[in-house]
Amino acid sequence: MTDAGTLERSADRATTILDHWVDSAPWAGTSTRTAPVFNPALGSVQKQVRLASASDVDRAVTSASAGADRWRDASIAKRQAVLFAFRELLNARKGELADILTAEHGKVTSDALGEIARGLEVVEFACGMPSQMKGAYSENVSTDIDVYSLRQPLGVVGIISPFNFPAMVPLWFFSIAIAAGNAVVLKPSEKDPSAANWLAALWSEAGLPDGVFTVVHGDKEAVDALLQHPDVRSISFVGSTPIARYIYEQAARFGKRVQALGGAKNHMLVLPDADLDLAADAAVNAGFGSAGERCMAISVVLAVDAIADELVAKIAERMGRLRTGDGMRGCDMGPLITEAHRDKVAGYIDTARSDGASVVVDGRGIEVDGDAGGFWLGPTLIDRVPTSSAVYRDEIFGPVLSVVRVEGYADGLGIINGSPYGNGTAIFTNDGGAARRFQREVQVGMIGINVPIPVPVAYHSFGGWKDSLFGDAKAYGPHGFDFFTQEKAVTSRWLDPSHGGLNLGFPQHD
Ligand code: NAD
Repeated sequence: MTDAGTLERSADRATTILDHWVDSAPWAGTSTRTAPVFNPALGSVQKQVRLASASDVDRAVTSASAGADRWRDASIAKRQAVLFAFRELLNARKGELADILTAEHGKVTSDALGEIARGLEVVEFACGMPSQMKGAYSENVSTDIDVYSLRQPLGVVGIISPFNFPAMVPLWFFSIAIAAGNAVVLKPSEKDPSAANWLAALWSEAGLPDGVFTVVHGDKEAVDALLQHPDVRSISFVGSTPIARYIYEQAARFGKRVQALGGAKNHMLVLPDADLDLAADAAVNAGFGSAGERCMAISVVLAVDAIADELVAKIAERMGRLRTGDGMRGCDMGPLITEAHRDKVAGYIDTARSDGASVVVDGRGIEVDGDAGGFWLGPTLIDRVPTSSAVYRDEIFGPVLSVVRVEGYADGLGIINGSPYGNGTAIFTNDGGAARRFQREVQVGMIGINVPIPVPVAYHSFGGWKDSLFGDAKAYGPHGFDFFTQEKAVTSRWLDPSHGGLNLGFPQHD
């Protein structure tokens, strides 16, 4: 069934409209364009979301500019109090948010709660903002002259987020942006937009002043309006690589600070001395969690020939124990985000066959614990994938795990370093020397040693290399505070008559 067909089938249930959020309240804007929001486990439309016009974005940025003026002057103590209140509210009510994530994204409840936990971690890091916002002071750099630096907010900052983490990715950025004294305009994915409004209402409850947190829903028109708006000082983007590249180039063209996190193809190299049971567990967890719709999912296992047959058998056996179905029913894996995406992902199984790979587990037509109309695809395992195949090269972003057989460490490393992506990778081995060599030699931003999804904790920063990150600042951690602040250096002397006199030379120290 096409998206349009599904919409027609459930049109009667799709009358609710999700508004933007401006000045601490829902706002309809002026655009009449909307997009359907599906429940992927049912395959039906549950609401419509507004798609902002450029003038709607302008109105939202005007409100945010007023918010930025108010918030930048709030004391550190006041800002911290609001952050702590937000943290407490989010922790107390995370179950509500998890339900929203499951209903619109499809991820199972335990995974939704995991997403929120990793976002909360960044809120907690942001609560410690006083130590991150401190400047430096050098006394008497020249006689009776001191130099010190201050960190100040940018003003209005834009965040554009992807469908696969409707809560965590916005939390990565806005917690730090707000802690640093900025006002945020968030443009969430139009596929699962409700979490953004829920979070916005929570900020109001926590005492954040009007205009400091704004949500504009939309598609390319809203994104382009944010990119071009003169009062938006920075753009933080997360999404697919082609769009990340576009965002990076456009934001730079319009004079903005930009960090644009892109797509991924994450490899897990399994050496012959690894514990194969732990490696198989890890491959299944990291390959099929969230139906493979994670930028840190393992999508390729590089299995050294000597252990490849045994490892593939162990992975396949574990896959047989997974339950695919409605995320509300305690299953292991939910549906894909849209019907079109499900069909695209499933299409790679035929591509694999025609490219000479062997399909070990085919996830099409599996029995699911859920509505027949859902966008289902079961866990799929493809062995002996040639690196020339689109199955290897493309970011599939679904529950399809490829196995590429390699001769040894050097062969595996060469494949990883030959990939245009460099988001995450993992090595499974019991050899410390091999692991240490891997961490030095691999051209990837986040590395796991016997850890399959190496998402750094909030006080380190998150980001990949190569086509997985455009810009020079990663997300959250120390990079987050660097990105969302601008530094001022002050050179100060309190007047002393002995320093009078004319001297047109360039200032030097005495
Ligand atoms: P996407 O690129 O389709 O969309 C991301 C955002 O860009 C959305 O808000 C969307 O509305 C907007 N957008 C879409 N098309 C646009 C266009 N033509 N012009 C301007 N804006 C546009 O990505 P997605 O499908 O929502 O998310 C999945 C992708 O995100 C995957 O590639 C995944 O790897 C990546 N991702 C990366 C990370 C990371 O940290 N590197 C994290 C999560 C997701």
